[in-house]
Amino acid sequence: MFETTIAGSLPKPSWLAETNKLWAPWKPTGTDLEAAKGDATILAVKLQEDAGLDIVGDGEQARQHFVHGFLERVDGIDFANKVEMGIRNDRYKAMVPQVVGPLRLKGRVHAMEAKLARAHTKRKLKFTLPGPMTIADTVADRHYGDRIAMAMAFAELLNQEARALQADGIDVVQFDEPAFNVFTTEVAEWGIPALEKAASGLTCTTAVHICYGYGIKANIDWKASLGTEWRQYEEIFPAIARSSIKQVSVEARNSRVPLSLLSLLEGKTILVGAIDVASDTVETPEEVLAVAEAAMKVVPKERIQLCTNCGMAPMSREIAYAKLANLAKGAALARQKFA
Ligand code: ZN
Repeated sequence: MFETTIAGSLPKPSWLAETNKLWAPWKPTGTDLEAAKGDATILAVKLQEDAGLDIVGDGEQARQHFVHGFLERVDGIDFANKVEMGIRNDRYKAMVPQVVGPLRLKGRVHAMEAKLARAHTKRKLKFTLPGPMTIADTVADRHYGDRIAMAMAFAELLNQEARALQADGIDVVQFDEPAFNVFTTEVAEWGIPALEKAASGLTCTTAVHICYGYGIKANIDWKASLGTEWRQYEEIFPAIARSSIKQVSVEARNSRVPLSLLSLLEGKTILVGAIDVASDTVETPEEVLAVAEAAMKVVPKERIQLCTNCGMAPMSREIAYAKLANLAKGAALARQKFA
């Protein structure tokens, strides 16, 4: 009950990449970079264990960004000539690579860090991949001319890597779909079919993470424009409930999402975001407990995990791990109270 985990990314050590930013440039180069990514992965696993988390991840230490880390290993993408594009319905501009030909994996994407993480922890291990709709919203298409066809092509590649991760001993494969909260009407139409294609044949636990984004200014401004209640989940949860995906990671802490909407996800395990990644204030264990109690009004306690709202990549490392330690302490309080 009340197992704890993270949405995905964690801050990187300053010897690996520039700190406190998204798309942070790497510091080492060549074979030094590969070795440093591996070392940072082992360290992230260890620090999550020490924080007391039950389900740990690689902290996305070996990828520069949660989408581009995957794209770098895909043939048919021109990574050298990035173009500026408005993403998430023009919420912000990003330099994105271009799809210029048929998509194919160059080989394994995350084998190094998945195998290393597996070798260095006995805890349950979760691994994150970008979802097909979110990928399709984070590249410039110069080849397919059809967003859905391109997303389905990405879903096929994601499925290859997801199956390989399962074979590496990963317990939970999570697909990150922040775009679901933006293109809500397209979720049922093709977002979920693409997601299920990406997850097809997996026998490990499957999850989807849907959030309001990293704690960067563009997202904070967007959230401020969404009114007193954020009801995007209301439009997409029914389709997710009907899908084969077993877990749904949502944001709840310091959020205007009415938790009553979680009742639309009957049968799913809910990864309730009890840690705000857009604030440097470290939640107390009691505040984590309060989120668990609020979720319990709607979701049976057996189906609640406690998680972060989103990835922590752009945060201070000290603050991020202090938050994770209190996440685990809050879960312990919840177990004491409700076991
Ligand atoms: Zn997120």
